[in-house]
Amino acid sequence: MSLTGTYDPANIFARILVGEVPSVKVWEDTDVLAFMDAFPQAEGHVLVISRTSKARNLLEVEPEVLARLTAAVQRTARAVTKALDPDGFNLMQLNGEAGGQTVFHLHFHIIPRWTDRPIAGHGQAAMADVDQLRALAARIAAALDPA
Ligand code: AMP
Repeated sequence: MSLTGTYDPANIFARILVGEVPSVKVWEDTDVLAFMDAFPQAEGHVLVISRTSKARNLLEVEPEVLARLTAAVQRTARAVTKALDPDGFNLMQLNGEAGGQTVFHLHFHIIPRWTDRPIAGHGQAAMADVDQLRALAARIAAALDPA
């Protein structure tokens, strides 16, 4: 999938947004959804997406949507670091198949990092246990600053 093209309404994140595919939610509002990556590169790997935009990548997103998404990413990253106490984190956002993107609904990855723990490569992680994801999501949600 190149950088240009049309939004596929049947992509997996679109299906999560309409409830056709289950997800482990961290938090949501009318604009954004933060949920656990099902194949986490590290413990606490969270994805943040727009609920409203049909942008496939950063080039297509409406600036006002991007502003809300960025604020949501910061709020989520603060909660991830408060809840899990990593030594750092990666903010990752991939564009186009050549850029490593595999789901063509714009999203931001928040990947906690610990100095003594390696992370799995992108697209190489195993599927997580859902109960463990739920427990992590609850810890992160409990650490959210008020909206
Ligand atoms: P990207 O390769 O940047 O497009 O990232 C897509 C991400 O979505 C990957 O990290 C996948 O592990 C993740 N992913 C794929 N399917 C699901 C799903 N059903 N629920 C949660 N995360 C998913």
